[in-house]
Amino acid sequence: MPTTHMCIICLEIINSNFITLKTCGHVFHDGCLQHWLTMSKFCPLCRIKTKENQMLKLFFEETPMVDAPKLIKENHKLIAKLEEKDTVIETLKAEIDVLQKQLEELKTEKEEYEKNFQTEKRKLKRKKKAEELLNCTIELTDSPAPPKKKSKRIWT
Ligand SMILES: [Zn+2]
Ligand SMILES: [Zn+2]
Repeated sequence: MPTTHMCIICLEIINSNFITLKTCGHVFHDGCLQHWLTMSKFCPLCRIKTKENQMLKLFFEETPMVDAPKLIKENHKLIAKLEEKDTVIETLKAEIDVLQKQLEELKTEKEEYEKNFQTEKRKLKRKKKAEELLNCTIELTDSPAPPKKKSKRIWT
């Protein structure tokens, strides 16, 4: 948690114009302490005796305020989102594995079908040839016998 510093004289947060007492190290607003020392020679916090020449101005390197709790919250949200995405990725990977297996199976099936198709094609060709031969035989058997007159002629 970020900490804040309060000026005990005006009871407000010290954001700038820091001043400290070298005698005790307590920090106040510059203007508040100067005004205080015109009325009292004691630190308003610890009551140690001090003098105006014991005042020391403090200078801090200013850095932008970082809202740590907000950042942590956002970080957690991002981590949760990443974990969600990871789960989605895992699910997709599993789905891809299943699809790849199915694809392999389909490929094997296709190869078998192609083999069967080739065999059937060959069978059909043979059948056609056989039918053609059969037709020829039928034509031969069906063809009318030579006229008897002709044969008579041959024999006479
Ligand atoms: Zn003050
Ligand atoms: Zn003090």
